[in-house]
Order: sequence, then structure tokens, then C-alpha cells
Amino acid sequence: MVKLATFRGGVHPPEFKDATKDKKIEPVALPSKVVLPLQQHIGAPLELAVASGDAVKVGTLVARATGFVSIPLHSPVSGTVKSVGEALHPSGVSMQAVVIESDGQDEWEPGLLTRRDPESLGVDEIKKIIRDAGIVGLGGAAFPTHVKLSPPADRKIDVFILNGAECEPYLTTDYRQMLERSADLVAGVGIIARVLGCAKVYLAVESNKPEALAAVAGQAKGREGWQVVTLQTKYPQGGEKQLIEAIAGRQVPSGKLPMDVGCVVQNVSTVLSVFDAVTTGRPLIEKVVTVTGGAALNPGNYSVRVGMLISELLEKTGGVAENLGKAVMGGPMMGVALPNLEVPVLKGTNGLLLIPEPVPESLHRACIRCGGCVDACPIHLLPCDLALLAENERWDRCRELNVKDCIECGSCSFTCPAGRNLVQLIRYGKFTVMSQDRAAKK
Ligand code: SF4
Ligand code: SF4
Repeated sequence: MVKLATFRGGVHPPEFKDATKDKKIEPVALPSKVVLPLQQHIGAPLELAVASGDAVKVGTLVARATGFVSIPLHSPVSGTVKSVGEALHPSGVSMQAVVIESDGQDEWEPGLLTRRDPESLGVDEIKKIIRDAGIVGLGGAAFPTHVKLSPPADRKIDVFILNGAECEPYLTTDYRQMLERSADLVAGVGIIARVLGCAKVYLAVESNKPEALAAVAGQAKGREGWQVVTLQTKYPQGGEKQLIEAIAGRQVPSGKLPMDVGCVVQNVSTVLSVFDAVTTGRPLIEKVVTVTGGAALNPGNYSVRVGMLISELLEKTGGVAENLGKAVMGGPMMGVALPNLEVPVLKGTNGLLLIPEPVPESLHRACIRCGGCVDACPIHLLPCDLALLAENERWDRCRELNVKDCIECGSCSFTCPAGRNLVQLIRYGKFTVMSQDRAAKK
């Protein structure tokens, strides 16, 4: 029996991908308006480039990057800027956003869409194109992609991993893109490998996606130094550190980054955004989103303009059942419960999970010290202790037990027989400690 690549820890939640895995990606009709929160990435805040009343086209710069770790934001529609002010973000927090009313014309900014041969471009030119296109990691972290592709001179990258795991239950966007755009995907991997100058390239896909594995392997055939890797189907197999452990056999130490062990990981959607930007000039204004769950009336994979309100997305794709109990942006393990449906699709949105009533309540009973969460944690933390410490606001102990390393995968909560709210408490501890550390540095 062939041993599949994997990591220590993790869990096996039910997959629930059948409702959408065979549904081709369908474009959704243009939104009537878009809401664009300025903070859709990790890094320096953006500076507005438009004002209320301005006419914009598809791809017009809406907000400028203000530092190296920052990316610009573009208009996903042509129309008029209706307002610049506070709007509700999917996290439930109000933040600065630009609202644009679409004129339905879908007219592009002149000169933006340009066909280019990547081979004719230098490495620095490609990195600039990626930055100017506003591309962030689309697997959840929303970290600017050009930064990941620009390691400091003392960090030699020798391994690039395409993350085709898509281990989060319900979601099928990367799976469909691997099937429907395998040639573009492999060409995108080639562009990134050239930018990084790395010899070893791994295309990693979970064993529960044999058709995607075959599609990617077929396109990559004959490329020297490239290897297609079948990953064990396990959650969170798509975590960066877990992939690096499974494939390269390297451990990313606490507080360090993949580049510190010579590796870069990018997921399928990010690589395709890079391919689109480099070969056609398209900025990141559109996302593939899986709409699914028991309350979705027409589950599927949809290509959606960034900024479209969830309410309009559902209206245009078949609607939602009356017994909707909870809407989650993302999947059940790492997703965020939405405050309501009047919030926008973000660059990092990959799924919308619609859960019908009755929504299971959290039990949060006392810990029985079974150790299940410790076995499940892929980062080898002590989730039971961290949650108790966060509950009791013992921040110094949280720091000592490396709370900042938590990747918020939810494996501990999934496995806990006492139904404790582990990931919520640990996330609270992580953000408190991070804020304290940031304040101390100032
Ligand atoms: S402590 Fe964090 S990294 Fe570990 S299982 Fe829980 S959520 Fe995942
Ligand atoms: S899994 Fe739940 S009950 Fe078991 S040790 Fe962890 S927190 Fe306690």
C-alpha cells in the first residue's frame, strides 16, 4: 500500500462536498452595487483614490497601497461611487468602505486588459504586476502575494508547493478550478517557480480528489523537478505548516514563517489570480465561491464580483430557504458567522455555508481532561489549557504556551466531547496577546 503524505495530528470531519463537487463554475450576473471594505488584506491600510460621485470603470483604482506589505483595491464594476464611509464587514465590525453603483455596462478601464507572454517578462516586472493587481493569498490569510514571493536575500527558497488540498468540508472551489483550468493553473505554478527561482515544485492534492489529481498531473507531465503528491485526506491538510511537514519533512518553528525553512506555499485560487494578472492584465476583482449547506436552494460554484452583497448573490443564484438558521462565510471549521446577509463578498471569500434551523447549540461543559484536543492539534499546542487560560485572562501564560501559533483550524473544538468553545477562546487569547505585543513594540 502506498503511504500518503501527511502531518501529525488533525481530524476527519465529514466532507459534505457532494452537493457541489460536480457543479461547473457559473458566472453570476453583474451586481447592482458593490461594497468594498478597504481592509481586505493583512498589512498597511490603503489610501483612498476615489471620492463620492466619481465615475469608475472595471479595474479603476479605488484605493492605493501605502507600503510594501499592502495591495491596491480596484473597482469590480463600471458605474458611480455612491459613498465613502462606514459599512458592515462580514466579521460584524464596521469599517471604511467604498460603495459603487453599477451602470450594468461592465466597461473596463482602457489599457488594462493586455495579453502578455510571461516568458517575455523579468522577475521584478512579474512581482510588480502581481502587486498592482491587488493579489492576496486566497486560502484565508489574505497576505499580499508579492511579499511572499519576495523573500529577503538571506532566505533561499528551494521548495514551492501548490496547495490543492481544499480540506475544509463543503468547499469545492479549488477542486472545480483544478478540473476546469488545469492548464492555466500549471502555467501559473511555472510563473511562480520562476519568480522564486526554485528547483523543486510539488503539486499537492488530497486523495479524495482523484480527477483533480489526474488533471493536474496530465498538465505537469514532463516538467523537470516537478512532482505530483497525493496527500492523505485529513483536516487541516491544507494548512501551510502541515503541507510543509507532509511534503518537505520540514518543521516551521514557533513564530517563524515557511520562508524561514526555504518553502513557499500558494493555493489554487491564488495561483490562478497570478496567472490571470500576468497573462491578461486582470486585477483581482472576481472570486469563485461555493454556495452550499442545507438552506441553499441552488448549491453550486459561482464566479462572483468582489463586493457583491450576499443577499444579492443568493437572489441571483436561486435563493435561500426560509428556515435559514445561520450563514457562515467560509466552511464549518474556519468560517465566520455572518451578522446578516447585507455584507459583501471579499477577495478572500471562498464559500458561503447556509445552515438551516435548528442550529446546534454549543454545550461548553467542563473539560474532562481526555486529551483529545491535544492529539488533534496540528501545531502541537495544548488547546484545553490555552482555552482555560484565555477564559481566565492569564495572558502571560497564554504567551508562554505559544498561543500566537494557533492557526484557528478548529480541530480541537471538533474533537472535544465536552463541546467546549476552544477555538473561540484561543482566538480571543491569540488576538489579545498579539495586540499587547504590538503595543509594547511602539
Ligand atoms: S489550538 Fe489552534 S491550531 Fe490547535 S487545534 Fe485548536 S484551533 Fe487548531
Ligand atoms: S478535548 Fe475537550 S474535554 Fe478533552 S481535554 Fe480537550 S478540552 Fe478537555
